[in-house]
Amino acid sequence: MNLGELVVYHRGAFMPYREATLGLLTHALQYGTGCFEGMRAFWNAGDEQLYVFEPLPHFKRLRRSGNVLLMDLKQSDEELTEITLELCRRNGFRTDVYLRPLLYKSEEAFGVRLDGIGDDLAIVAFPNSKYLETDDGLNLCVSSWRRVDDNAMPARAKITGSYVNVAFAKSEARLNGFDDAIVLSDDGHVSEMSAANVFVIRDGVATTPDLSQNLLEGITRKIVTRCLSEAGIRVESRAIDRTELYSADEIVVCGTGVGIAWAKSLDHRTIGTGALGPVAKRLSAFYDDVTRGRVRHPEIDVRPVYPLLPRGERAAAHVDERIAKLPHAETNLAGRGDGEAEQQPVPARTLAI
Ligand code: PMP
Repeated sequence: MNLGELVVYHRGAFMPYREATLGLLTHALQYGTGCFEGMRAFWNAGDEQLYVFEPLPHFKRLRRSGNVLLMDLKQSDEELTEITLELCRRNGFRTDVYLRPLLYKSEEAFGVRLDGIGDDLAIVAFPNSKYLETDDGLNLCVSSWRRVDDNAMPARAKITGSYVNVAFAKSEARLNGFDDAIVLSDDGHVSEMSAANVFVIRDGVATTPDLSQNLLEGITRKIVTRCLSEAGIRVESRAIDRTELYSADEIVVCGTGVGIAWAKSLDHRTIGTGALGPVAKRLSAFYDDVTRGRVRHPEIDVRPVYPLLPRGERAAAHVDERIAKLPHAETNLAGRGDGEAEQQPVPARTLAI
């Protein structure tokens, strides 16, 4: 990836990546006082359209994380969504994209605290289709690290500094030959994977750790819960023991980065048959369909990036405009296609497992 070619949004303007610089004493860099989101946009080659997936819940969560850190987002969730769509247009993406909004204490101020420090917003978007190679299933371990407690470092808020906690777990897992780690909360119950939420499928019931287990309230977790319920699968949210994982028929992990993935093994124990199970399979298919705009669900928001020009003229039209608009061209947020004119999405369907 050539970062120099990217257009980013920083301090209220679009600019080349290399112009969005920070000073060494930036508070967030020194003390981890920022919060962020991980969002995705999915390319649909048939539609020649890029769909930003569930932008509003991500900005809502960013706002809540910011509130925990005594920061306010100036723009509304809808305005932030428009900025995101415009950012994708200016980059002329015709591929899957990862989006990283960051709200951070931007003052070059000395002293560890949260109050009275200025902040800024940046959004970086870059081509990216896979966070983790997941097709063959994941070999997981239970980490020796515990998840940070809500009264020490709230996992509910996506705080930059708190990602050191899951980085400990992830690196320990990788260095020991695993793909990733499941982290337990301090009381010994399952919390989450390093960057994904966990569902245990056992005897036809799906169980996921409840929100008191120091986990990020995942947007994909919510979608998976809804889809399973619509498919008639009971979803329980409660404390889960480590050995419930060992005796699962399937372990499904889900998150924006990882999408829908499944565990082949955990701590060297085979999970279920060790092969892709029916629940993970159907959830993956459903997720792929909704993220790429092939299937519309009334509760799931996908926003087309490009105006709906005749097929073939769509995304390409924006690539040439992108450099001309740099660095601080007026924000043209009006050009978002509303996706209704030409799109003929499959009506909402439930997940039949
Ligand atoms: N837990 C953690 C620690 C994460 O970083 C993520 C990724 N954002 C998730 C869970 C999954 O959350 P979401 O589905 O909102 O991406």
